Amino acid sequence: MKPLNAVYAGLPTTIFEEMSRRARETGAVNLGQGFPDDPGPADVREAAAKAVVEGWNQYPPMLGLPELRTAIATHYARWQGLDLDPEREVMVTSGATEAIAGALMALVEPGDEVVLFAPMYDAYLPLVRRAGGVPRVVTLQPPRFGLDEAALRAAISPRTKAVLFCNPLNPTATIFSDADRALLARVCVENDVVAICDEVWEHVVFDGARHRPLIAEPGMRERTVKIGSAGKIFNLTGWKVGFVCAAPALLGALAKAHQFLTFTTPPALQSAVAYGLGKDDAWFEGMRADLQRSRDRFCAGLAELGFRVIPAAGTYFVNVDLAGRDDDDVGFCRRLVSDHGVAAIPVSAFYPGGEVTNVVRFCFAKRDATLDAALERMRGV
Ligand code: GLN
Repeated sequence: MKPLNAVYAGLPTTIFEEMSRRARETGAVNLGQGFPDDPGPADVREAAAKAVVEGWNQYPPMLGLPELRTAIATHYARWQGLDLDPEREVMVTSGATEAIAGALMALVEPGDEVVLFAPMYDAYLPLVRRAGGVPRVVTLQPPRFGLDEAALRAAISPRTKAVLFCNPLNPTATIFSDADRALLARVCVENDVVAICDEVWEHVVFDGARHRPLIAEPGMRERTVKIGSAGKIFNLTGWKVGFVCAAPALLGALAKAHQFLTFTTPPALQSAVAYGLGKDDAWFEGMRADLQRSRDRFCAGLAELGFRVIPAAGTYFVNVDLAGRDDDDVGFCRRLVSDHGVAAIPVSAFYPGGEVTNVVRFCFAKRDATLDAALERMRGV
């Protein structure tokens, strides 16, 4: 047989699937792949059930149900002060990963350069490569994981088409500062670069933080693809309902990619998400407060076990630094799941260049009993 596509043929199965499979097989407490114990808000799930039984189950419009697109625009106006035209600037996708893939397919010409920041979500690099893009990776340095102007500018060239920017950042659980966002915006404007912004964690921010989207920075309104995810907002990660917001010229091209990738997303889930996005502020604040409490409980437990915990400002995740221990992150995670029955994620999976091998990520979006069971099992690891 002739060789298969080289990008995918050489790839291992994603670490998230790998760790969840091991956890299922061994009965481990799964703090690896990022999904909550919480089943998601009952009223949103009931809205979906009702829509399946009583509603329309044939193809919805390719760009998404009008009610959801309007709900997305209204939601972002309320929470982030954005002014989006639901008909020309909002599209629904089957999860944020589809949105990222579609954006890269629609924007990148073979040979174009795409700037990425390490650590990065493991899907980014293969998607850039498959789109024919040439990755230029900027490594973010701990503990701030912020932007460094010289390093950023060194990665930009006349061939740079796009930057792919995740904020809040998975896996570091950090939020980029106002100065970092302003810098990135300036560099994009000066170099005529499009920003593809993975903002799926926008609602999952703690300690009173408020998400600021890159699209709101000066000069970015016409050159930003803003990507969000209902799965992360409503603790319904299996639903795979994502959204894309961009100026009409960009969204039009993205829609062409979407129409031949998934074309649509299940209509019942779309109408339930439309309902959910309209929930009152107290629900969103409560969701954050619950997760923050879980974060604090788990971090206190980790510290008590002697782990060096890296502070988490957002996302479902907290990281520990293994410095001073014998294993690297992969060895530690392997031992943790097989000998102690706890699954976690080695953060080296987010560093394609292998720069960091001493950090392990845990998902704390779990019931107290799950977190406590994991901590108990980790005693003496
Ligand atoms: N976003 C999830 C995480 O970081 C993984 C999603 C997936 O496995 N596709 O854990």
